[in-house]
Amino acid sequence: EMPPIVGDVEFRDVTFSYEDGVPILNGVSFHVKPGETYAIVGPTGAGKSTIINLISRFYNLDSGELFIDGIDINSVTIKSLRKQMGVMLQDSFIFSGTIMDNIRYGNMEASNEEVVAAAKTVCAHDFIMGLENGYDTEVNERGSRLSAGQRQLISFARALLADPKILILDEATSSIDTETEILLQEGLAKLLAGRTSFIIAHRLSTIKNSDKIMYVDGGQIIELGNHDEL
Ligand code: ATP
Ligand code: MG
Repeated sequence: EMPPIVGDVEFRDVTFSYEDGVPILNGVSFHVKPGETYAIVGPTGAGKSTIINLISRFYNLDSGELFIDGIDINSVTIKSLRKQMGVMLQDSFIFSGTIMDNIRYGNMEASNEEVVAAAKTVCAHDFIMGLENGYDTEVNERGSRLSAGQRQLISFARALLADPKILILDEATSSIDTETEILLQEGLAKLLAGRTSFIIAHRLSTIKNSDKIMYVDGGQIIELGNHDEL
């Protein structure tokens, strides 16, 4: 079992290949302090998604070690590990049901009031109230009637309810209008507060608001530093 964590994440000389054996990560090392926000940038195929997928233990390492709060992630159950982290993928997951249900998925015990409070915190409330039936509006898997940015706002509210110490976000590349972009940045800032987070960043505003920027290419960290250093 993974005990409650503060969110310290360390990669120590990690190498990794998928089943075909082609080396993908070559000696990746970094150490993230609790509460820090890392933006991960780099060209397509660089290994960005692979790095963040390893934190959730979707695959086994070829060599090296990965620690959370100093605990080797291979020494705890996958279930207890994943309970500590929130993962928000590029195309935010929406299932058939109401907006209320979609947000509550983050914490099934949450009351309606808590769902609404979470939506307010991450700037999702106003657009939801603008839908024909507000929180009772029915949506489906394809997120009908919702834009990519709106789906992402729903996933922010859901993640806030789940309250994980480690947050992983693969930012959407799809074009988002300026107004939603501002909401997303505000909502994201609230969501990130007090959590260790990794964001595969496409938007300049996200990169700007990160503590550290990691530039990955060819399965290696080419540069790692803050804005002044890079
Ligand atoms: P993008 O910006 O396009 O999302 P990325 O930096 O996230 O790219 P990864 O998805 O981590 O890149 O992929 C890194 C390398 O691993 C690529 O060469 C890719 O083809 C390869 N790869 C990814 N997933 C698999 C897989 N399941 N099996 C084999 N190779 C894979
Ligand atoms: Mg990727």
